[in-house]
Amino acid sequence: MTKSSATVPSDHDLRAAVIAGCRDLTRLGLTYGTSGNVSVRRDPGSFFVSPTGVEYETLAPDDVPLVTLDGLWYGRRLPSSEWRFHRDIMAARMEAGAIVHAHSRYATALACTGRGIPAFHYMVAVAGGADIRCAPYHAFGTQELSDAALAALEGRKACLLAHHGIIAVGGDLRAALKLAGEVESLAAQYCTALAVGNVGLLDTRQMQTVIEKFRTYGRQDAADPALRAAGEALPPKMG
Ligand code: 13P
Ligand code: ZN
Repeated sequence: MTKSSATVPSDHDLRAAVIAGCRDLTRLGLTYGTSGNVSVRRDPGSFFVSPTGVEYETLAPDDVPLVTLDGLWYGRRLPSSEWRFHRDIMAARMEAGAIVHAHSRYATALACTGRGIPAFHYMVAVAGGADIRCAPYHAFGTQELSDAALAALEGRKACLLAHHGIIAVGGDLRAALKLAGEVESLAAQYCTALAVGNVGLLDTRQMQTVIEKFRTYGRQDAADPALRAAGEALPPKMG
């Protein structure tokens, strides 16, 4: 049986999704101007990525280039200067359907101190582990930056980039954007906690418990066993 066209987005749809993702970065306050970039996988060997240096509001679908994992690009606009880390993450992480890079305020401020986000709050586990690492600084667009980012992403779906910004990886664009927002929110909380002082950290066992709980968090088929289903109709009020 062939897949129905409804389930396979067209190239036009994927290009439009990249543009929507870029505009979401601005709308969500996660980036400013043309900093940041967005990619969406097309197939195992290629992805669409935002073009370099073009105002997000002016973008049309045909402005969004395609890049293959062996470094060929197609289209009328040059791909993001960060095509290398988009390519290397897409190649190393076949589960990645989309990647978001942003210069969000608090995560970038934290990354300017060379710090990642330790287990100061249980939500740090949304990125897949007990901390969110910060990759050492390398100039934007370089292979060195891509290598450092990939190392910082080991076992994680997000990392900070020293003196630069953040990367968030998702199964799809929605998940990648959501994670970028979570990382920014955690960075804001951590910066605030650092300003107050004496920030405590959760230990490995505590974080392991959270990572375990996150496997089923939010799933309708994974109710707390102490909850007993009583049907949809509400009971009469007491008293
Ligand atoms: P591009 O406009 O080339 O995507 O660059 C923005 C950026 O954030 C570089 O790190
Ligand atoms: Zn950047």
